[in-house]
Amino acid sequence: MLQQTQVATVIPYYHRFMDSFPSIRDLAKADEDKVLHHWTGLGYYARARNLHKAAKLIVDEHKGVFPTDIEQVIALPGIGRSTAGAILSLALNQHQPILDGNVKRVLARCYLVSGYNGLSAFDKNLWCLSEQLTPAVDTASYNQAMMDLGATVCTRSKPNCEICPLKTGCLAFAGNEQANYPQKRPKKTIPEKSTIMIIPKITNSGKSQVLMEKRPPAGIWGGLWCFHEVSKHTQITKLLTTLNLQEQSREALPAFRHTFSHFHLDIEPIVIHCQQNELAQIKSEINEQQPQKWYDLSVEASVGLAASTKKLINLLKHT
Ligand code: SF4
Repeated sequence: MLQQTQVATVIPYYHRFMDSFPSIRDLAKADEDKVLHHWTGLGYYARARNLHKAAKLIVDEHKGVFPTDIEQVIALPGIGRSTAGAILSLALNQHQPILDGNVKRVLARCYLVSGYNGLSAFDKNLWCLSEQLTPAVDTASYNQAMMDLGATVCTRSKPNCEICPLKTGCLAFAGNEQANYPQKRPKKTIPEKSTIMIIPKITNSGKSQVLMEKRPPAGIWGGLWCFHEVSKHTQITKLLTTLNLQEQSREALPAFRHTFSHFHLDIEPIVIHCQQNELAQIKSEINEQQPQKWYDLSVEASVGLAASTKKLINLLKHT
């Protein structure tokens, strides 16, 4: 959970997750929808899917016991070399180097290592340094100290060199070059895409339901529940025919932008008010590959929702 997300945000999610899945076996046998539901709002859903897959693999291949061999840990989905090193050094005090973003910054500044995050030569040089510097004795304390130093003292924009225990040997401090290390990654312009989200809605005796579909496991919002999408207005009628729905009226909701790490998505939501009797018909049309469900707006969701779906549901609940 802490990869890409700050501690304060993670804490309530962590507690809820651990209450629901207190052991590897509990997580392994859990339904994917339930796991993703516990991640709704945290983003980067591949982490949740990988955690779930890793738990299943540990049960199937390691008798439910977390492996202690670095290669076996790296082989688990979602765990790279640095995370594996952190797990084994912090949990078991194994002699394993780490190289997360904070440690990279400290080492790049102390040794004036040129390059930026993601550049393979930069990462390679820093891994060499980390391997050489990591002590065999009390590795856990060393690794924890390096991560904490990067997070709290050697920070990205305002390193507090005066209180830093490394300042006497730090080359960036000596040459007042802290701001130049690590170098900034060259800026890429994020592409813009657009989509039309179709929200079929049935209201019966004051109770409203909207139709959602579960995304395929791979790709954007993989495994999460979303609204159907079309790229052009002219495709709406065809979609409704495929879904066996009869439109009574349509209503445009305010458009909004959702930004992913690699593109902006402009979303135009349209509610399609449908006939009441379509509920039973659609249920019989459920497709195993692309499950669909009518979601009751008065009930709290118990499945993983994409951020945009959650936003739209909140909007629909209050209109
Ligand atoms: S002296 Fe300054 S730049 Fe060097 S490691 Fe410490 S905080 Fe970072």
